[in-house]
Amino acid sequence: MAVPQNRTTKSKRNMRRSHDALVAANPNECSNCGELKRPHHVCGACGHYDARQVVAVAKDVDLDEDAA
Ligand SMILES: [Zn+2]
Repeated sequence: MAVPQNRTTKSKRNMRRSHDALVAANPNECSNCGELKRPHHVCGACGHYDARQVVAVAKDVDLDEDAA
């Protein structure tokens, strides 16, 4: 197994990690339902994109009815 020959200095380690920070999400409001959604993505709540329905949204499923 490869083993590092030299210890990484705090400086080099921190310079490497300077790009590791997570970036907060930047949600937009859906123009159809007003729910927050990711930019350039279909709305997860209503299935709309660019002011039209592109994904059918499932109705509430009654699990008790299926089990019977
Ligand atoms: Zn929506």
